[in-house]
Amino acid sequence: MKLPEKVKIFEVGPRDGFQKVEKFIPTAVKIEIIDQLSGTGLTKIEATSFVHPRVIPQTRDAEEVLAGIQRRPGVIYSALVPNVKGAERALSAGADEINAVVSVSETYNRKNVNMSVAESLQNIAAVIALAREYGRKTVVSLANSFGCPFEGEIPEERVLEVARQVLDLGAGGLVVADTTGLAGPLQVRRLVGRIEEIWPGLDLTLHFHDTRGLGLANVYAALEEGADQFDCSIAGLGGSPAAPYASGNVCTEDVAFLLKRLEIESGLDLPVLLEISRKVEEVVGFTVPGRLVKAGLR
Ligand code: ZN
Repeated sequence: MKLPEKVKIFEVGPRDGFQKVEKFIPTAVKIEIIDQLSGTGLTKIEATSFVHPRVIPQTRDAEEVLAGIQRRPGVIYSALVPNVKGAERALSAGADEINAVVSVSETYNRKNVNMSVAESLQNIAAVIALAREYGRKTVVSLANSFGCPFEGEIPEERVLEVARQVLDLGAGGLVVADTTGLAGPLQVRRLVGRIEEIWPGLDLTLHFHDTRGLGLANVYAALEEGADQFDCSIAGLGGSPAAPYASGNVCTEDVAFLLKRLEIESGLDLPVLLEISRKVEEVVGFTVPGRLVKAGLR
């Protein structure tokens, strides 16, 4: 076992979590939550997405959110963008880092953005170039890296091939994402092991969803391969109100608790995270998937 000594948790709740909440969360509340999160030791927060408001009405206030937050030194405020237009908006609104997405599944990518993977990669090349003009880094998320609801199993070689293409385009980092919660621990160990073998020192983040209850098992499997950066969502948000327990991201405070029990340093303030999680539960108005928020620290 080569468990890392230190792990960084990146907060994606304000984007991946909130975007699936049906009722519109007031901009001021989003800003308040982001500002509280930035005081817990998190080093990166995906604050919003610059997707067309018709597609994701929840983040129609993306500019206002970025303008309203208090920038805490040492925290990266990133934004998800679907295309160059979104990147233009995000960069002029002051996003510190860009998250661009491509699915490694041809079918999912077509259904999601109506483009082939090759077309998406061209798109990402333009996003990377634009971000560079602003002196900003682009991290690329590889969606469905552990399986696809349409295509089923995704061969490891396919993920590595798209990863290689994305890095050749100049991506500053990779997020290997289990978009619909299909990953299993052995598969995680194999893929993370291969990636670290091919690209040692790569800025690599794992992004798991707890859709089928294997979220923390997959985090642990990745830790065993030395992975040290994880996307997590406060309160485990990311499920829809129709199925609140079903499909959230791995939960920030639950992962922080796992790290604590593994004696791995995360730099996170667990009691404060729990306070924020309780507040998030009030804001969304349904029972959130997080476990620690229900059971408490002792
Ligand atoms: Zn996600």
